Amino acid sequence: MTALASAGQDHPAMIWRNGDLVPWESATIHVNAVGHASTAAVFEGIKAYRADDGERLLLFRLHDHLRRLYDSARIARLHIPYDLPALERAVSDLLRANEFPGNAYVRPWIFPMGIIREQMVPAGAPCEVVIDSWTFDSSLREQAGAQAVVSSWQRISDAAMPPRVKAFSNYHNGRFALMEARASGHDWPVMLNSRHKVAEGPGACIALVRDGVVVTPSLTSDVLDGITRDTSLTLLAEQGVPVEQREVDRSELYLADEMFFMGTAWEILPIASIDGLPVGAGVPGPVTKTLTAAYDGVVHGRAGHEQWLTAVSR
Ligand code: PMP
Repeated sequence: MTALASAGQDHPAMIWRNGDLVPWESATIHVNAVGHASTAAVFEGIKAYRADDGERLLLFRLHDHLRRLYDSARIARLHIPYDLPALERAVSDLLRANEFPGNAYVRPWIFPMGIIREQMVPAGAPCEVVIDSWTFDSSLREQAGAQAVVSSWQRISDAAMPPRVKAFSNYHNGRFALMEARASGHDWPVMLNSRHKVAEGPGACIALVRDGVVVTPSLTSDVLDGITRDTSLTLLAEQGVPVEQREVDRSELYLADEMFFMGTAWEILPIASIDGLPVGAGVPGPVTKTLTAAYDGVVHGRAGHEQWLTAVSR
């Protein structure tokens, strides 16, 4: 019986915790270790795509994601008691142990250890390190455009709660925006920052295309320093598409020929309408399609950039 089969359908057999692969069922904490104690937790979201040959499982930009985990921890003043190569090995060990037949999503996260009764988690509190993983289906090859809407909820700012930190708590902000968008019949919100400039979606960065130029909010627009954003800008530049990183006005969204979200989970997600206005022809345009194809090629190991891929052997 494979590890996955023995684990049942809802979770994999193993989870990585504080240096060990442990069976899912035994990875427990005291009920009193949540609440205020978990407000400081930071995490990463990484995808591993099964290569077209069916053999290799390719972690995409593992090193860069883990580097961002350490950056988040540094800003949040949490200590990760492992070095980066140790966590790289841990992620590969976990994927190997769970024997995923297809694609796998990996979530390394750290949170203060034990029962903390203070409302404010102290700086430097000892942390647990956990790596979870599960299967996912890529939607890169079957994409309808999303109906997006500008949110009345403002993106948290670097001066209040830095979006550069990938903290679970930041998703409380995105959640408000998402609930509002869904309540009005849309798929995803686009949040503006405290300067009323375009920031990002609750789980992805955003870019628009106008007159053949790709424009995305700068990294000082109150956004996460997205790895899919960086990948997209690199791949677009390689295709000869001009790219700009700068402040973006809300009204620019209404003039875009194309628009898309970029994120590990959302991949390259075309936007079909914004605030009820169709984006271009309302279907994915040529730049979006070119980028999606290039991204699909790279993550599946067909299109170079091997430095971004970590193969997990069976
Ligand atoms: N912004 C937010 C708020 C996110 O949650 C994510 C997903 N991690 C992104 C942007 C995209 O980042 P990445 O491409 O590194 O996944």
